[in-house]
Amino acid sequence: MISLVIPVYNEGAHIEASILKVQAILLENKVNYQFVLVDDGSRDETWQVLQKVAQNLPNIKALKLSRNFGKEAALCAGLEAADGEACIVMDADLQHPPALIPEMIRLWREEGYDVVEGVKSDRGHEGNVYKLGAHLFYSTFNRLSGFDLRRASDFKLMDRKVVDAWSRLPEKDTFFRGMSAWVGFKRYRMAFAVEPRAAGNSKWSPLKLGKLFISAITAFSSLPLQIITFLGGVFFVGSLLLSAQTLYMKFFGIAYSGFTTVILLQLIIGSALMLSLGIIGTYLARIYDEVKNRPRYLISAEVSSTRSDDVV
Ligand code: UDP
Ligand code: MG
Repeated sequence: MISLVIPVYNEGAHIEASILKVQAILLENKVNYQFVLVDDGSRDETWQVLQKVAQNLPNIKALKLSRNFGKEAALCAGLEAADGEACIVMDADLQHPPALIPEMIRLWREEGYDVVEGVKSDRGHEGNVYKLGAHLFYSTFNRLSGFDLRRASDFKLMDRKVVDAWSRLPEKDTFFRGMSAWVGFKRYRMAFAVEPRAAGNSKWSPLKLGKLFISAITAFSSLPLQIITFLGGVFFVGSLLLSAQTLYMKFFGIAYSGFTTVILLQLIIGSALMLSLGIIGTYLARIYDEVKNRPRYLISAEVSSTRSDDVV
């Protein structure tokens, strides 16, 4: 059986149609399936629709998180609730083409791949600012962590053992794409073209993306902390040179007003110090969040289909 894990946030208008579309493809290919739908604290009618879907269709498990915990936490909830021998993670907006699911399953079942990851062959209809942001993010992430996530997406099939390995990672603040690359296993990269959104708008605000950026970088690299040491070294060398020059001029009685130097030094060192404190603070905050050991998400309601139909 395959579990389809789908995080859903304010997608009430089209979620039912999306599920039916995916279901039709699964039935056509005679796959035993289970939908794990996670309502990430939607404020529209999503939960009502999911309840109705669970009543009318077989093999549905729907969870409602107690508030909007974010896609990452919703994915965790879904993967932890999934029972399948493999899980397919996909978006609710059909941007991850369901027509590729049979091929993913074939690669897993027949060719023995543990992870089949969807790789974006183009970034769809995204704006230039978004593309530039994504490029900046992935090149920084790659340089700092050593994992190349360029073109990576959350559209993935994972074998049961990969899901289990993944759920053993204890961190509370998760970055699914990075973590699923970290666990390794036999992987296949499958190119797909990003479809236009089924309806509605992207649920990611620039602020949410910024948070994801910082949490991803700090989760996979401590290099920013070492940059501070490096910066300190550079300033130390500079300070030796400047001290020598200052003392020389003092002893030879040619010291003159170095007002500009003083102001520049103040500004440069001041901002370097504050930036450094900020970087340390970011890591500290991360440690603080992990130490609090709060659950990644809370489930406020759960419904399941009464019927479970096996295709084969
Ligand atoms: N999503 C979620 N919680 C959030 C934001 C998004 O569960 O806080 C879900 C959303 O319902 C969709 C998926 O994550 O299934 C991807 O979101 P979206 O399509 O808005 O992102 P984009 O495709 O623009 O990256
Ligand atoms: Mg989308």
